[in-house]
Amino acid sequence: MSIPLLVLAGLAIGPAPKPRLVVVITVDQLRPDYLDRYRTQLVGGLTWLLRGGAYFADAYQDHAVTETAPGHATVLSGRWPAHTGIISNARGVVDSAARLIGVAGPGASPARFRGTEFFDWLKAAEPNARALSVSRKDRGAILPIGRAKESVYWYQSGVFTTSRYYADSLPTWVQAFNARRVPFRAAGLTWDLLLPPSAYSEADSEPYENAGHDYTFPHRLPADSPLAALAFGGIPTMDSLTLAFALEGVRALQLGRGGTDLLAVSLSATDLVGHAFGPDSREIHDQVLRLDRYLGWFLQQLLVRYTRESVLIVLTSDHGVTPFPERSLALGHSDAVRVIPDSVIRAVNAALDSRIGGHDWVYLETGMVLVPDRGKLAAQGVNVDSVVADLATRLRAQPGVARVDRPADLAGKDTTDPLVRRWQHQIAPNAGVELVATLKPYAIWSLENLPIAMHGQPSDLDAHVPLLFWGRGVRPGVYRGRVSTVDIAPTLARLLGLTPSEPLDGSVLGEALQPVD
Ligand SMILES: [Zn+2]
Repeated sequence: MSIPLLVLAGLAIGPAPKPRLVVVITVDQLRPDYLDRYRTQLVGGLTWLLRGGAYFADAYQDHAVTETAPGHATVLSGRWPAHTGIISNARGVVDSAARLIGVAGPGASPARFRGTEFFDWLKAAEPNARALSVSRKDRGAILPIGRAKESVYWYQSGVFTTSRYYADSLPTWVQAFNARRVPFRAAGLTWDLLLPPSAYSEADSEPYENAGHDYTFPHRLPADSPLAALAFGGIPTMDSLTLAFALEGVRALQLGRGGTDLLAVSLSATDLVGHAFGPDSREIHDQVLRLDRYLGWFLQQLLVRYTRESVLIVLTSDHGVTPFPERSLALGHSDAVRVIPDSVIRAVNAALDSRIGGHDWVYLETGMVLVPDRGKLAAQGVNVDSVVADLATRLRAQPGVARVDRPADLAGKDTTDPLVRRWQHQIAPNAGVELVATLKPYAIWSLENLPIAMHGQPSDLDAHVPLLFWGRGVRPGVYRGRVSTVDIAPTLARLLGLTPSEPLDGSVLGEALQPVD
């Protein structure tokens, strides 16, 4: 059979059509082993993406403080926390100057984020390009877009909103969506198992889950509407609402009409359910099954609007999670303890206060010791090095602490050691971080009176994430090499023919791309 020459000529000389919509889905706290564990019961979007996409089985958020803000900032920047400046949740998007619109809640903006992201490179090439980014969490919506003042919305107390960094009012479509009051009307709603109980191998009745309350199915939302809207953020249906809101935005903004646009969606329910019930619970099993169905519906709706050839999809996560110490101990992990450093830090600050007065001089945030006013302390005759060395000794003596290092001592060390490499990726030399503390396997940082499952360590439990590309130019298959989330942005840039506007930490994942003639 001969192929018409015109077709051949068209293929050869025309520029490759670009996707109209780049969709980046970040599932908060999605551990990749869930995809294997529940594989036979996944019949929706997750399976559909895995079948048709390029899946990287050995992908990492390859930095030390595996929290939501640093993780979301790597996904479309192509750079480590050491270079984005987003080193923890506490130093993420919180910004009291950027007040929320129409609802009370913590202000938020990308003021601490440094440099550019994928969307900035797209916009430089296509000045009409637009971005819509949505999430239950402010950091999940803001950080995939960087500093761009685009359509960025997150959930607060029953409504989707944004901050004054982005706008002075909410557009009509957001107001109309909020006016449906879905979370308020969910008062009394029951979360029960999706499948018959025999489909779940996990024990349901684990009294350490959910702080010892309401740890068996069914779970019921409060009968009071405002309380229900608050609790709504922690059940699977929150992901369904976020996806419905994203689709509403796609329609209202007519994304993809004039060229390539970006849709970033961060889904948080897996994180909320994982913290409360743990990664081995019946609840997280049910959450992932429901997420899979919601994603199936969402992708189906997108493909009604766009052809398969005009959508490019990425799926990943911002971090994993470590099980409840109670469960890890039962499985024989003898170092699984909650490490609560509050009293050690309080003692150091009390000693400094009694000597020179003042305030909290020393902080410990997820393994990082910071002394923001080092200069002021030194000016008052305090030997800061000695204070820090004393603190290191006290931290090393805490049960569950594996090692305490000065960042400068890790610089230039062997990067084949994941702990060393992840701390190098985490800390910029000028970040003001005096010490970094790493816990033993299965130990977790904890707050007083907050008995939840946790992440934030440079361990594989917390750093291993799924990474998948689907769409035009992608070569489907399973790829086994070790890759990282900073590789996503350069790979997307290559797929779209864009040039990143600054040096990146990640590389193009060329093995997953179709060869270009
Ligand atoms: Zn997270």
